[in-house]
Amino acid sequence: MISDNLQKELTLQVKHEYFSSYFYLSMAAYCASINYDGFEHFFMQQVKEEEYHIMKFYNYMKDRGVQITFGAIEAPKANFKSIEDVFAVGLAHEKTITNRISHMMDIAVEEKEHATVSFLRWFVDEQVEEEKMFEDWLHKIKLVDGNGYGLLMLSDQAGQRNFAPPASAE
Ligand code: MG
Repeated sequence: MISDNLQKELTLQVKHEYFSSYFYLSMAAYCASINYDGFEHFFMQQVKEEEYHIMKFYNYMKDRGVQITFGAIEAPKANFKSIEDVFAVGLAHEKTITNRISHMMDIAVEEKEHATVSFLRWFVDEQVEEEKMFEDWLHKIKLVDGNGYGLLMLSDQAGQRNFAPPASAE
């Protein structure tokens, strides 16, 4: 039985993952508005990835007999200063998600809720990947220093990204 406190945090995380998806959709829309189609595609892949995270939490709670209740999702920021700004904001956002996952892991460990510790471990590892991906792109974007040609090249590269759920996914 998952404690009320942990249930509350897991339920709240569904909202955070939905917000992540909404936030990345807003970033995709910004990139499209300034004609960086590759970066738009990149963020659409990120939207798909967040939807996968939502369903992982949903299915885990369903399997553990927790009924999810849904909270309102706030509107994401829509105005960005530049492509560099988008990736910097994306990285900062992922760090807040990492903190959320760590917070839930702390509770699960403290409560000796081993199944949830095991479930959350996937997200601990996932957040390392998410932060690294945003850091790598931010680094590349800083290297081209606002040069239009360089940004278009990076956009084309980013447009190659394709999210596919892991083969073992439910
Ligand atoms: Mg996520």
